[in-house]
Amino acid sequence: MNLIIGSHVSYKNSTGLVGSVKEALSYGANTFMFYTGAPQNTTRGEIDKNLTVEAFKLMKENNIDINKVIVHAPYIVNLANLNNFDFSVSFLKNEVERCNTLGIKYLVLHPGSAVNCPREEAIKNISDGLNLILDNNFDVTILLETMAGKGNEIGKTFEEIKSIIKNIKYQNKIGVCLDTCHLNDAGYDIANFDKLLDDFDREIGLNKVGCIHVNDSKNMRESHKDRHENIGFGTIGFDNLINVIYNERLENIPKILETPYVTRDDTSKEREFSPYKYEIQMIKDKKFDSDLIKKIRG
Ligand code: FE
Ligand code: FE
Ligand code: ZN
Repeated sequence: MNLIIGSHVSYKNSTGLVGSVKEALSYGANTFMFYTGAPQNTTRGEIDKNLTVEAFKLMKENNIDINKVIVHAPYIVNLANLNNFDFSVSFLKNEVERCNTLGIKYLVLHPGSAVNCPREEAIKNISDGLNLILDNNFDVTILLETMAGKGNEIGKTFEEIKSIIKNIKYQNKIGVCLDTCHLNDAGYDIANFDKLLDDFDREIGLNKVGCIHVNDSKNMRESHKDRHENIGFGTIGFDNLINVIYNERLENIPKILETPYVTRDDTSKEREFSPYKYEIQMIKDKKFDSDLIKKIRG
């Protein structure tokens, strides 16, 4: 099957999209995901047209399909809460435009967090916000990410995602990003992935899936923790993740790794070595390497 695999990569204003493409290529990836600035803030710079043109040339030469490249919205935008609502709407409108300028078709968004507000109200706020953001003039689809259910996170069940989606005006502009760590931590069983897909299909429809985040989890099912682990080193396990990645029903859907950087030793708190080149190789080989962390440390 046609494997579309990549990881989270950085994006800097100085190197623009071409910097992100080069990083993805260094991992042996044929797709990638990035934030258009820092994940934790909403400061965004101008997009350099020349760097975008150069990036498109490099992608073409290396068979990276821009239609499978993903942008992730920053964590702090929150459509669920009315205190943040106007800012989040205007930021995301700009972000959709930025994606459009970069030629990116998919923007992944955490649905939001119901802080001091009932969940049904939060869900309504998210739908309302999305209807203000989504624009049929732009070829950009927002993918709501399934969440672990940490704190007051919305989107920990397919039912919640469904209740957001059903009120969206432009149905062709809304989809879902499945995150394996989040699904596990929310209580779904990745070991029984075909059943999970059946449930999703019944509730929302498999045609709505636009991206898969492939992460192992540091915690048990239903822990509601959201701590990602390197592929094969967590509670989901290598074989179960390989079954997700190579599932025929998700062929042509980009698979994106968001696994943690490897530190110099177990006590170090620095994020030092990117695991992605090694994990992507392991995924291509379909063979778990228990020495992976040692190899990444070099
Ligand atoms: Fe995410
Ligand atoms: Fe994710
Ligand atoms: Zn996560």
